[in-house]
Amino acid sequence: MKNQNLKSALICLLLISFSAFSLEPITDGPYVFEQSNQRNATWICNGEKVTRQISRQTPQIISQCGLSATLWQANPKEEQKLEYSGKFKIAAASDIHGQFDLFIKLLKNNEVLDQAGKWNFANGHFVITGDIFDRGPQVIEALWFLYDLEKQAEKAGGKLHLLLGNHEVMVLNGDLRYLHEKYNKTALLLDRSYESLFSKESVLGDWLRSRPVLIKVNGMLFTHGGFHPKLAKEKISLKKINQTFKSSLVEKELEKPREGLANYLHGKNGPIWYRGYFEDDGASAKEIKQLLKHFQVSHIIVGHTTQDSIETRYKGKVIEIDAAMKEGLNGEVLFWENGKFSRGLLSGEKRPLTENLN
Ligand code: ZN
Repeated sequence: MKNQNLKSALICLLLISFSAFSLEPITDGPYVFEQSNQRNATWICNGEKVTRQISRQTPQIISQCGLSATLWQANPKEEQKLEYSGKFKIAAASDIHGQFDLFIKLLKNNEVLDQAGKWNFANGHFVITGDIFDRGPQVIEALWFLYDLEKQAEKAGGKLHLLLGNHEVMVLNGDLRYLHEKYNKTALLLDRSYESLFSKESVLGDWLRSRPVLIKVNGMLFTHGGFHPKLAKEKISLKKINQTFKSSLVEKELEKPREGLANYLHGKNGPIWYRGYFEDDGASAKEIKQLLKHFQVSHIIVGHTTQDSIETRYKGKVIEIDAAMKEGLNGEVLFWENGKFSRGLLSGEKRPLTENLN
C-alpha cells in the first residue's frame, strides 16, 4: 500500500514537472519588421524559425503554418482625435489578455462580428480599453486581428478605438513579468528580447505606439484604469493627459527620464493603473461628480479591475467592463444604443445594465 502511494506520488510529480517545462514545440507569429527598404516576416512553425522577405504591396495577406496577418500601409499616424459624437451604437470590451478564441466567440455571438469573423457593427464605434498582452497564449493573434479590424471598421463607416492598457506599456518597456511561457520560448528561439519584437521597427509595435490612452465617445469617457480626482482638481485636460502620457511612453526611447506629470501619469494613480473607483478609500461620490463635470462626460468606462460581470459604481456613473476574460472561461461586451446600456453575455443574450447598478 505504502509503495503504491509512493509510486502514484512519483507519477504525479513527473506529470507536474513535464507540464511545467512542456517540450511541445510552439507555433507563433508573424513578427513583421521594416528594415531599410525591405520587409521581413518571421514565424515559428512547430519550433522552427521561418523568415521570409515580403513585398511592400498593401494590403496583402501573409501566411505560414496556419498563422496569417493582413498587412496595411506602414507608419500609422498618432491618433490625435480624442472626441467623437454622432448617431451610432457603441460597443466596449476590455482585458483580452491573450484569450483570442474566447474574444472572437463573444464578438460573434453578440454580432459585433459576422460568422466569418468580419466587422458587422456598421457605423458603430467599438472601444477596447487595453490589455491585449500577457497571461494568455494568443496575444499575437489578437493583435493582428485588431490591426485588421480597425481597417474593416473604417471601410464600413465605423471605428475601432484600441486604447493602451498597463500590459501594453509594460511589454513595450520590457517588463515581462506576466508573459505566457510560450512567449519566453519565442524570444529564446528568435534570440532577441521579447519587447524588441514590438520595437518601433515592427509593424505591430509601430501601430501600438500610435494608439491613445483615452477616448471620449458620445459624451462617455473610456480609459483602462481610471482618472484620479486630482486630474479634475488640477484642471488637466484630456488632450494634455493623452499627449503627456504618449510622449513618455517607452522609457528607453526618451532623451531624459520621465518627470512631473509624465511620471505621475505612468504611476499607480495614472490612467492605466488607477483602481480608486473600486477601493473603500478610493474616490468619493463628490470627486466622481467633479471628474464628470471637468471632463464634460456622463460616464467613465474602465477595465483593469476585474469583476465577474460588467458592473457599475457611483449609481451607474462609472462602468467596469473587465468581466474576467483573462480566466479564459467567460466574457462580456458592453453596448450603448439610444442612451441605454446593456451587457452582451458570452451566449449572445443581452441584459440591461440596470440589473447590475451599484
Ligand atoms: Zn490592467
